Amino acid sequence: MGDVQGFLKYDRDKKSMQAPQERVHHFEEFVESWAETQYTEQAARCMDCGIPFCHNGCPLGNKIPDFNDAVYRGEWKEAWEVLKSTNNFPEFTGRICPAPCEASCVLGINNAAVNIEHIEKEISERAFIEGWEEPIAPNFESGKSVAVVGSGPAGLAAAEELRKQGHAVTVFERDEAPGGLLRLGIPDFKLNKEVVARRVSLMEQAGINFECGVEIGKDITAQELEAQYDAVVLCVGSTVPRDLPIEGRELNGVHFAMKFLTHQNRLISGKINELSPELNAKGKKILVIGGGDTGADCVGTSNRQGATKVTQIELMDKPPSARTETNPWPEWPMTLNTSTSHEEGVARDWSILTKRFIGEAGQLKGVETVRIQWTDKAKFQYEEIPGSEQVIDCDMAFLAIGFSNPEHSLANQFGLELDPRGNFKTSNFKTSKLNGQISESMIFAAGDCRRGQSLVVWAIAEGRRAAKAVEKVFQMDVIPA
Ligand SMILES: Cc1cc2nc3c(=O)[nH]c(=O)nc-3n(C[C@H](O)[C@H](O)[C@H](O)COP(=O)(O)OP(=O)(O)OC[C@H]3O[C@@H](n4cnc5c(N)ncnc54)[C@H](O)[C@@H]3O)c2cc1C
Ligand code: SF4
Repeated sequence: MGDVQGFLKYDRDKKSMQAPQERVHHFEEFVESWAETQYTEQAARCMDCGIPFCHNGCPLGNKIPDFNDAVYRGEWKEAWEVLKSTNNFPEFTGRICPAPCEASCVLGINNAAVNIEHIEKEISERAFIEGWEEPIAPNFESGKSVAVVGSGPAGLAAAEELRKQGHAVTVFERDEAPGGLLRLGIPDFKLNKEVVARRVSLMEQAGINFECGVEIGKDITAQELEAQYDAVVLCVGSTVPRDLPIEGRELNGVHFAMKFLTHQNRLISGKINELSPELNAKGKKILVIGGGDTGADCVGTSNRQGATKVTQIELMDKPPSARTETNPWPEWPMTLNTSTSHEEGVARDWSILTKRFIGEAGQLKGVETVRIQWTDKAKFQYEEIPGSEQVIDCDMAFLAIGFSNPEHSLANQFGLELDPRGNFKTSNFKTSKLNGQISESMIFAAGDCRRGQSLVVWAIAEGRRAAKAVEKVFQMDVIPA
């Protein structure tokens, strides 16, 4: 522990970032580094707890007090070595993780949590600048081959871990480039795609083969894949968006959030030359339906494209600004989240039910809503408040109400069982076959397709664990020389 009184001497500093009125004019990242002394002071706030709850909060089990201590001592390489020992991609989590570690930081009981995520990002960036990040090539070849299907954070983590064990790894991705939602879902202003590309480049140098534009189940069948590889790890994400099948859903201007976000990301990456008019928010009134992270990304993207007004509505009640008695530390705080995109300009409202889309000559003109009162949240029951109907004028509406499950066509081809939520059913990351012959299958699953829509940090953790599960089965068979 660096400074035993650090948490008494220093307050939690805010991240440095460009002002909303500046950053809203571009799609670049806008969070800036602190001065060196700020990192020392912020790391000094860590109390090196006897029971570090931050470990428990982090799905990767990051050794947070250890890297905080190293940063306090100015030993950045040591900090990076500690961080890398549990996290394949701290450059992603340091930028976009909602930081469950901070939510469970012991300092958070009566003070502001340690600034763990921002410290993590700086450690990771220094590692790239200093050249500590290198291709992790194995020192032997196992002779085993593994196909990883899907190149989101789960697939990338599984591929890296499997390659470390000396296996020949091929990652199949149906999109034009690797990264999954890191590349095509999450906007560039939160995660610049160069950050994804430099990681993929290191992985290629380590001998991992990426086959993009190849859809498993279509271009290569499940049977062909099973025959060609010793193991298959499915990391195909939770890609079926929840729909709102109400009157007017077919109108021009009503889109799934992902269609809008992906389009903008493809423009920035040069895949397309200009925005299609139907997916351009410039000069338009935008309604975002859904109050979560995807909705916030639509808000940030709409403002950057030049929307005249952005409104975001949510079915659930407005969360409290601070923890309530029924939501104590170290639980995840069910409190109001004001993201950087919200700071850039949006009218938000809660407890609002969308009734119908209203159009003129096939084009969306407004959305009729009604205010609701929740009667039983556990049973998802609510009542409409009579007389609270209103029409929100809008030219475009984005459905950002989550994803229900992975696409089932692939599960059908592989003959996989699904869990009650429609995700791939597994036991220790090994999928269950419909015929119950689990032991004969070498099909594994990880990430959102297994646990349901979640977080990047969980996807990395799942990819690592699936790789371990593959390795365990391989070890039973052949131990590499
Ligand atoms: C808009 C948006 C913003 C988000 N923001 C954040 C955030 O800020 N922080 C955070 O922690 N989480 C965020 N998330 C959640 C996070 O991105 C996901 O939890 C995470 O990416 C899941 O990783 P994954 O590897 O399981 O799947 P994905 O990232 O979804 O990757 C799955 C990949 O599999 C490919 N694929 C699917 N089927 C096939 C097939 N048959 N053949 C070949 N390839 C296939 C897909 O094309 C895709 O590239 C966000 C999600 C969305 C939608
Ligand atoms: S819980 Fe907070 S204060 Fe305690 S070790 Fe973890 S980061 Fe440091």
